[in-house]
Amino acid sequence: MSKTAEQKLYSDKKLDTSVYKCPNCGGEAVFDATKQKMRCMYCDSLFDIETNEKVVEKDINELLSNAKVWKEAEVYQCKSCGAKEIISAQEVAHECAFCGTNNIVKIEEMAGLKPQGVVPFKVDDKHAEQVAQKWTRSKFYAPRSFKKSAKAENIKGVYNPVFTFDCDTRSTYEGRLGKNYTTYSHVNGKTVAHTHTNYFNVKGSHAMKFDDYLIQASSNITTDTLVKISPFSTNDAPKYTQDYLRGYAASTYNKDGQHCWKECQSWMKYDIEKQILKKYDYDVKDYLNINTTYINQTYKYLLVPVYVGHTTFKGKLYNFYVNGENGKITGKTPVSGWKVAFTVIGILAIIALIVAGIYILD
Ligand SMILES: [Zn+2]
Ligand SMILES: [Zn+2]
Repeated sequence: MSKTAEQKLYSDKKLDTSVYKCPNCGGEAVFDATKQKMRCMYCDSLFDIETNEKVVEKDINELLSNAKVWKEAEVYQCKSCGAKEIISAQEVAHECAFCGTNNIVKIEEMAGLKPQGVVPFKVDDKHAEQVAQKWTRSKFYAPRSFKKSAKAENIKGVYNPVFTFDCDTRSTYEGRLGKNYTTYSHVNGKTVAHTHTNYFNVKGSHAMKFDDYLIQASSNITTDTLVKISPFSTNDAPKYTQDYLRGYAASTYNKDGQHCWKECQSWMKYDIEKQILKKYDYDVKDYLNINTTYINQTYKYLLVPVYVGHTTFKGKLYNFYVNGENGKITGKTPVSGWKVAFTVIGILAIIALIVAGIYILD
């Protein structure tokens, strides 16, 4: 935003208590990612953020019964793509981070749980833009005209909601696995191979500890996308204060804590089974029954920093996502049919040459 546009917005608007006022000039201050302080948008003064306390894990039973509600947050919704966001006062007039339209209205809805902690933005939007620009140019399969003209547009810092879970697990299991072996018979001068399986029973116990298992709580960004730009330093997250959100938007969750805990358990089950199977030399799983108890379960509800932006090509939007802490990026770009076709033809040609070579050597 240009300085004059900022000033206009400032003079147009009555400042309310939800705004951080600069003690020097009374102007509005936002969170500065590179300085990790509050910065006045008018006189550039810097101020420390009050809390430096780290977030604490909470017992899971609290999540299931009486977690704190986020009362001071107002919820806005994009009427074009449905994204629900908490937007700090100075951002209201802006475009939706996810679809680029400015069809955003305030809705009467509770924001849900109050976040316990925030992983603050560490890189600023200019850096995120540079990362995105470099990334689009490096996309091999993108059309040349796209790589030349692509511009990273509408970059917005959005705090994304996640639940993280800690827990100890104790499992007992019993099942049947099989190991293959081969025998050969000779029929009419030809050798024929036969595969057999030796089955054996397995039984035992397995203990496993999980620390800060991250579960995405909003559908605005897919789990897959979040995994691609992870990690976030959720273990060192400071306690929530509204100041970290000033100048940014925050998505509200649409998967609640219980839903996320269930999802987390199914991921943990998958990990536990994988670890148990690793103990055995086997080829086939007949069945494996696992009984797991969960102990010392705690959770954190956190906001993690993501820059969302897009590039446009032939009238279509391609979203990209940048980790606001370490600058890792992922997203979609258009694909050139020609480049893919040539690669496929190239690979087929190599295979053909190899096969031809084998025949010649035969
Ligand atoms: Zn000031
Ligand atoms: Zn939208």
